[in-house]
Amino acid sequence: VRARVLGSAAGGGFPQWNCACSGCQAARAGRAAPRTQDSVAVSADGDRWVLLNASPDVRAQLEGCPALLPREGRGSPVQAVVLTSADLDHTLGLFSLREAQPIALYATREVLAALTRSILLRTLQRSTGQLVMHELALSTATPLVGADGRSLGLTVTAVPVPGKLPPHLAGITEASAGDQVALTVRGASRALAYAPCVASVSDLAGAFADADALLFDGTFFTDGELAAMGGQSARAMAHLPISAGPAGPGSLAYLAGLGVPAFYTHINNTNPILLPGSDELAQVLATGVRVAEDGLEVFR
Ligand SMILES: [Zn+2]
Ligand SMILES: [Zn+2]
Repeated sequence: VRARVLGSAAGGGFPQWNCACSGCQAARAGRAAPRTQDSVAVSADGDRWVLLNASPDVRAQLEGCPALLPREGRGSPVQAVVLTSADLDHTLGLFSLREAQPIALYATREVLAALTRSILLRTLQRSTGQLVMHELALSTATPLVGADGRSLGLTVTAVPVPGKLPPHLAGITEASAGDQVALTVRGASRALAYAPCVASVSDLAGAFADADALLFDGTFFTDGELAAMGGQSARAMAHLPISAGPAGPGSLAYLAGLGVPAFYTHINNTNPILLPGSDELAQVLATGVRVAEDGLEVFR
């Protein structure tokens, strides 16, 4: 399987339109690399591709990656989209993938139900076969089939991870195990695990043991970094922070002990690991855990 990080920022991107934190200012001044919102492209053959999450930045992400551009006439090499949740930063890009392009959409029952409530989705279902939904059963390897009806040579396994409902569904639907998942995409020889939003690792001991690389939730470095800007704590937002704090160990200890090459992604603009030369970035790199950036080829 080939795997390329299309976007490595959390919702809002880096810089974020309404933010002047030191990170966003550094990105605007060219002192830190800007990042688009979290998404990964995977392919078994380099010809037909699958997006893991559809970010609001999808159009620019595709234009920045020649393998993902149409080759002649109309028709995209993007055959399918697999979602980890119904969060807007993971799904809004679906609504940019219109223009009568057939797409196979894979998500859990809960996420498909949430999308089906959206009137926007009707845009993608104007013609028969334009958007074909496939339910991902939890913890089961599902073979991916493209919008063209042919096998994509990949399987995907959705594993429930602790999280919380997207704000737009709170109070509308009950929380359920399939609301938020990690994905393991397996090709003929390698497997990529992708877990962009994780509230706790206590139930994930062996979840990624057979992956060849793991892209993991790096939203916040400390529990309080967004609270310092007037927001909620990381744990209240269902993101396990990277560093340890009064509430317990962070994700860095977990990843450093995993024995799987790991990269942080889904990084919020307030996270100091985005700043070259920061102590926090040095702390991460010292453990062997790396920080993903847009365009990173995890598997060539
Ligand atoms: Zn997100
Ligand atoms: Zn910011």
